[in-house]
Amino acid sequence: MSDSPRAIPFLDLKAQQARIAADLRRRIDTVLEHCQFILGPEVRELEAELAKFCGAKHCVSVSSGTDALQIALMAEDIGRGDAVFLPAFTYTATAEVPLLLGATPVFVDVDPRTFQIDIAHLTQRIEATRQAGKLKPRAIIGVDLFGQPADWPALTDIARCNHLFLLDDLAQSFGSSLHGRPVGSQADATATSFFPSKPLGAYGDGGALFTESEEKADLYRSLRTHGEGKTRYEVLRTGMNGRLDSIQAAILLSKLAVFPEELQARERIARTYDQRLGNAVTTPQRVPDSTSAWAIYAILLKDEAARDRIQAALRADGVPTAIYYPRPLHRQPAYSAQHDGSALPVSDDLATRILALPIHPDLTEEDVARICASVLAAV
Ligand SMILES: *Cc1c(COP(=O)(O)O)cnc(C)c1O
Repeated sequence: MSDSPRAIPFLDLKAQQARIAADLRRRIDTVLEHCQFILGPEVRELEAELAKFCGAKHCVSVSSGTDALQIALMAEDIGRGDAVFLPAFTYTATAEVPLLLGATPVFVDVDPRTFQIDIAHLTQRIEATRQAGKLKPRAIIGVDLFGQPADWPALTDIARCNHLFLLDDLAQSFGSSLHGRPVGSQADATATSFFPSKPLGAYGDGGALFTESEEKADLYRSLRTHGEGKTRYEVLRTGMNGRLDSIQAAILLSKLAVFPEELQARERIARTYDQRLGNAVTTPQRVPDSTSAWAIYAILLKDEAARDRIQAALRADGVPTAIYYPRPLHRQPAYSAQHDGSALPVSDDLATRILALPIHPDLTEEDVARICASVLAAV
């Protein structure tokens, strides 16, 4: 017989579902009644609500965060011979999309304390790419990593000076804000994801694009529906099947109603971790004058051996953890041949020492206390 304590869930979608069950059921039933499963009224309602939430003029919902990134780059005709600058320390999709379009990702290092793209290194990488003369610098994908925003004013300056398209990969950070403004209209286009484990998650794949340009919003709508023109059977360009289902939109409307409270709950947990763990481990540094969506709360440990040991000790206490990311993108077998060999020491170092603790709105105070006690006992 085991007397180990109840395992704390890393993410608790069941508890969240129980909180919103009645509204969720009602909205899904409405879709089942009208049977407009593709581009139904829920999709339009959601797009309006999402645009309002993040202060963007236009929202175009799509089938995933990855498709959102792809549609944004397709709309700029980015492809063979083009360089797309992006952080090496991010989820694979950020680099996959330029590669799918024939473009080349140029990996940039990240800040050792906020984990966001390193602005000075980005400038160096753009200059070096220009001087090498093989690729044409075309775009920057700034990633808002782990819930916090990247430095959008600095990224905007660099993009303007270098005539680059600026795309915001907001997949992990919908709900964050910077300098008092929600993130969603800081870049030329913003892409987000509703993968179930993201702060605002559907019950399947989903995503959205945000833009201030009506013309671009129309182009994104065309691209998400096979490049269609004014009528369904006029094909203006090569597009894709990239729409969001009405049922997912209905679920997201239900979740959006409780999202502000959930963001507050995540922030409270992050503050408790900061206070209780800050003297024992390296807690994440806040991006100045911002709020985080806290998709991930990642601590840094002394080295890889310490991380292995602490992760095992937490597991024995019923405390789950995760490693985002065990391998930076320039070290991935699929992408390493694309990398020019430049050193990315911070991304390499973080991969060996980083550890994510559970952070979701249904963690109880008792859970958080147990997680903190377990970490403090293990370090
Ligand atoms: C999750 C994620 C994506 C991809 O979103 P999907 O909806 O899973 O396609 C892209 N970029 C980042 C940084 C992500 O975390």
